[in-house]
Amino acid sequence: MTTNFKNCLSTYPFLMVKKGIAIFEQLIYPLKCLKCNAYIDPDMGKPNTMETCFCDACMQAGFYHIEDPYCLKCGVKFSQGFSQVFNENHVCEACIKTPLKVEKVRAATEYKGIIKDAIPLFKYSSKLAAGKVFELLLFQTFLTHYEKPDIDLIIPMPLHKTKLRERGFNQAFLLIRNFVKLYQQHYGQTPLWKIDTGVLVRVKKTKPQTGFDIEQRKNNLKKAFKVVDQKRVKNKNILLIDDVFTTGATCNEAALELLKNGVNRVEVLVLART
Ligand SMILES: [Zn+2]
Ligand SMILES: [Zn+2]
Repeated sequence: MTTNFKNCLSTYPFLMVKKGIAIFEQLIYPLKCLKCNAYIDPDMGKPNTMETCFCDACMQAGFYHIEDPYCLKCGVKFSQGFSQVFNENHVCEACIKTPLKVEKVRAATEYKGIIKDAIPLFKYSSKLAAGKVFELLLFQTFLTHYEKPDIDLIIPMPLHKTKLRERGFNQAFLLIRNFVKLYQQHYGQTPLWKIDTGVLVRVKKTKPQTGFDIEQRKNNLKKAFKVVDQKRVKNKNILLIDDVFTTGATCNEAALELLKNGVNRVEVLVLART
C-alpha cells in the first residue's frame, strides 16, 4: 500500500509535466480532422487512434474491424448467419473454387466506412499522420495472427520506381517501418524476422487496376515483380504487407514470383480488405 502510494507520488510531477506539454502542443498545433478539417476535442483519449485523426461526424461512417467469423484463407469477413457452423471461421466458396497462391490473408479492417476515406487521404494526399494510426492497427492485427511468428522475412509490397518517385513514399513500407521497435516494446526482445525492402522489386509499370475484371487484372500484372537475389528468399516463410486487398491479383502475382524463387510459404497482412 505504502509502496503504491510512494509510486503515485513519484510519477505525479512527471504526469503533470507531460500533460502540460500536451496542452501546450494543443495550443500551437490543434488537432484537426484529416478529412473535413474540423477541430477535434483534444481530450478524446489515447493519442494515435482513429479518433485523434477524424472528427466524430466523419467517424459516423463507421469502423469495421475484422473479427470472427472470417475465411481462414482469404480473410474475408462473413456476416453472422443463423447456423452456428457458419458463425465459425471456415474456408469460403471462392477460396475452394480458386485457391489463392498465398497461404493466408489477414486484414485489420474491412475496406468500408471511415477507412475507405482515410486510406486515399494517406496515400494520395500525403496525410501521413494517419500512417501512424494505421501502423498501430496493423501491428495489433499482426499480434493477433502471428503471436508465434514462424515467418522469416516481412516484405512491403514494392512500388514501381516511377510511382515511388511520384508519390515520394511506399505506403506499405510506412505501415511497418516501426514494427521492430513495436515488437521489442511488446515482447521485450528482438524479433527473429527481418524487414526486407529490396529483395522483391516491381519491374513493370502497370496500369491502375480500377475498372478491370479479374482476368484483365491478372494480365496487367503479369511479370510485374522480380526477385533480385534468390539466396535471400530461398526456403523462407514470407509475410507480404499491403494497404488494401481487393481481388488478390497483386498479392498472387508477387507470390508467384517468390514461390518460383524457392520461397517456402507466402502469407499476406493488409490494413483493409474488401
Ligand atoms: Zn471530419
Ligand atoms: Zn476465402
